[in-house]
Amino acid sequence: MTQSSYSPAARPSFMGALLRGLGRRCPNCGRGPLLRGYLKPHDNCPSCGLAFAPLRSDDAAPYFTILIVGHIVVPLVLLVEQHLAPPVPLQLAIWLPVTALLTLGLLPFVKGGVMAAIWSLKAKDPSER
Ligand SMILES: [Zn+2]
Repeated sequence: MTQSSYSPAARPSFMGALLRGLGRRCPNCGRGPLLRGYLKPHDNCPSCGLAFAPLRSDDAAPYFTILIVGHIVVPLVLLVEQHLAPPVPLQLAIWLPVTALLTLGLLPFVKGGVMAAIWSLKAKDPSER
């Protein structure tokens, strides 16, 4: 947060920061975009200057994305199997693309949420250091 316009009075709550991150916005100000392209974070927030480099989500974003997608797809697969019992090749033709598209669609949003959670839980007021 070397160039941040960080202000304790303007610091959002954990949920506020999380919601901003899930929207792929800066967790501090909510205005600057968090990601450029698909998953690459900006170096700093273009609006408030918050450094995004320390907010490394690493494997957490794919982990939570797979967790969420699994909790959506698996019950649907079981419901369809129980009530309709379509042939296995048809199920594979439906559920594999659904799983892949959901995973790829949710990943940037989850990554933003993980980065915001890291910022909200780790970021300290510079006067506290
Ligand atoms: Zn910002």
